[in-house]
Amino acid sequence: MIIILKSEASDEQVQHVLERVESLGLQPHLSRGTHRTIIGVIGDEDKLRAEPLLAIPGVQEVVPVLPPYKLASREAHPESSVVDIGGVLVGGGNLGLIAGPCAVESVERMRSIAASIKSAGANILRGGAYKPRTSPYSFQGLGEDGLKILREVGDEFGLPVVTEVTDPRNVELVTQYADMLQIGARNMQNFVLLTEAGRTDKAVLLKRGMSATVNDWLMSAEYVLSQGNSNVVLCERGIKGFDSVTRNVLDLASVAVVKGLTHLPIIVDPSHATGRPDIIPACSLAAIAVGADGVHVEVHNCPEEAKSDGPQALLPEQYAQLTKQIREMAQLMGKSISPPLGAAT
Ligand code: PEP
Ligand code: MN
Repeated sequence: MIIILKSEASDEQVQHVLERVESLGLQPHLSRGTHRTIIGVIGDEDKLRAEPLLAIPGVQEVVPVLPPYKLASREAHPESSVVDIGGVLVGGGNLGLIAGPCAVESVERMRSIAASIKSAGANILRGGAYKPRTSPYSFQGLGEDGLKILREVGDEFGLPVVTEVTDPRNVELVTQYADMLQIGARNMQNFVLLTEAGRTDKAVLLKRGMSATVNDWLMSAEYVLSQGNSNVVLCERGIKGFDSVTRNVLDLASVAVVKGLTHLPIIVDPSHATGRPDIIPACSLAAIAVGADGVHVEVHNCPEEAKSDGPQALLPEQYAQLTKQIREMAQLMGKSISPPLGAAT
């Protein structure tokens, strides 16, 4: 940790900071320049917290040297993590191709979509049973009936399933049906929900909040990891911007940055990021090119009848065309796509 003192800090104030550091059993290193005085401290940063130091008169800034997300950081774990989602591997060179409708609507529709995404080469099926809607009057999802449909269809097509959990009280229930728990953008900082997900042994798909910094996002991952669940996959899904030309702003640079900061796999959701089927394929390929460990794409066989997010859904044939290009891109990038363990269609 580096403690930067104000230029007008008195000798007594500098002395007070030195004593405070020593009282914690740490060794301060004082460096006095003409305009600035800094104190470097090597040692357990848990003992020396920034906030009390900032409250000392004369202290201008406290700069931690280590990232606050200890378990998520690549320094703590240099090897890229590989997460097992019902037998499908994501991370460390394995791409996750997650696809399906925004919401589970009926068993027939789910079957038709699952059949098409499986033959296109997707390895994980998605579908929301609890939908976080802006309006309380919009379709809220089928709840447990939706979970049952998703599980049944996933098993029928041999695809592991991911679905969103919006409420800590439902974590146990969703865990009974899903291979992976999705924590949505709106709940990225629901710390009770993160903690509950961290107490399960299910893989967690942690979406980036629409106004969250990379640091906020990794701290949320840390909540899950700190409970003992190391199966976290991050998902960049666009952040708020000022231009409505796309639904959100797909922050692909953050994907490259995050790859350096953490060992956790990171995938990209160009559907919610852009809201535009015409550019979802290009953004998916760009995501793989920038180093993402997969893409999460909404697919619907009749978007005009979709109960949510119809306008951004790819048609099954568009998705099949995209996965063909993703396979080529994967080869270029030296990545593989782990096939689902399950039965053939
Ligand atoms: C979704 O995946 O359908 C969803 C609601 O995503 P997000 O939380 O990214 O908006
Ligand atoms: Mn959606």
